[in-house]
Amino acid sequence: MKDWTTEEILKLYHTPIMDLVYQAATVHREYHNPNEVQISTLLSIKTGGCPEDCAYCPQAARYHTDIETNDLMTVQQVETAAMRAKAIGSSRLCMGAAWRNVKDDADFDHVLELVKTVNKLDMEVCCTLGMVTENQAQKLADAGLYAYNHNLDTSEEYYKEIISTRGYEDRLKTIDNVRKANLTVCSGGIVGMGESVEDRCNMLKVLASLRPQPESVPINALVAVEGTPLEEQQPVSIWEMVRMVATTRIVMPKTSVRLSAGRRNMSQEGQAMCFLAGANSIFAGDKLLTTPNPEVFDDLDMFEQLGLKPLPAYAKHQKPEVKDSAIFDKEKQIKWSRPGHKINKNVAYAEKAKEIRKK
Ligand code: SF4
Repeated sequence: MKDWTTEEILKLYHTPIMDLVYQAATVHREYHNPNEVQISTLLSIKTGGCPEDCAYCPQAARYHTDIETNDLMTVQQVETAAMRAKAIGSSRLCMGAAWRNVKDDADFDHVLELVKTVNKLDMEVCCTLGMVTENQAQKLADAGLYAYNHNLDTSEEYYKEIISTRGYEDRLKTIDNVRKANLTVCSGGIVGMGESVEDRCNMLKVLASLRPQPESVPINALVAVEGTPLEEQQPVSIWEMVRMVATTRIVMPKTSVRLSAGRRNMSQEGQAMCFLAGANSIFAGDKLLTTPNPEVFDDLDMFEQLGLKPLPAYAKHQKPEVKDSAIFDKEKQIKWSRPGHKINKNVAYAEKAKEIRKK
């Protein structure tokens, strides 16, 4: 696999657009069926109140946005949402919780239950829960998780302008932990936060240098939300998105390139250009976590117009098995109950102790 330099990626990015799209489409056809696009659904299972300060995010508690905050969704709520998503052709459910990091507590056990529930519906289950340790990633894998999302967002250099509450190396550490648990990695970025083209290409260089490369790379266009520090940012042009998608496709040929946030501002023609340039997944549903998304029927109409077929679940990797783990299998949990716990006295020692006392 080629080791890309930032200069090479920059050169690709600036290639005349017809040549760039042609090159990306050629790579795309080598590794993927160009008429198949995966429909994924992003579900916010715990909304708002996040202690982090990501400048683009309306869920950060410190910004004054008017999102509705919600506690963790119940198993039944998630199951219903997953079944609805499946009914419109979605083969992947990504559950997001506005946490800095996963804690080993009852909430995490509940998320494990949610993962297990969605796995049973034969959907690819992805989670985005903030930073995870290797052990937590393993627990998620045992519960039947298919992928873990942790975006790099931007280049290491520009990252400091966007987030101050954690470092770039924390992001990479979580990705490494996810990989060690044999989960597939989903990691991408956001375009339009005021970063330079060099920042975009630097981020792609870091992602393309991972071994193995991420199985999934979401490319988001910033949705500037009132009340966040980036509220004044102007939307990026469709051509920047096409260039970003095409460049991603060329440097990560086997990856699923996901056209994510910001699709609402794109025409069908613009999205079709992105599919031609190598995007092979969209997020469906009226909301993407908290920001608006195209109506499901508009997406289905677009699929029909373009002759696209939704990609089935597990087309690229096997369905993960749910391990018979004690973490969430209450039947198999060790129960410490005093009445049933017989203590066998050490009779020989008791006799010996008696003799010692007599002396
Ligand atoms: S992007 Fe995630 S970590 Fe950052 S503020 Fe939003 S919910 Fe928190």
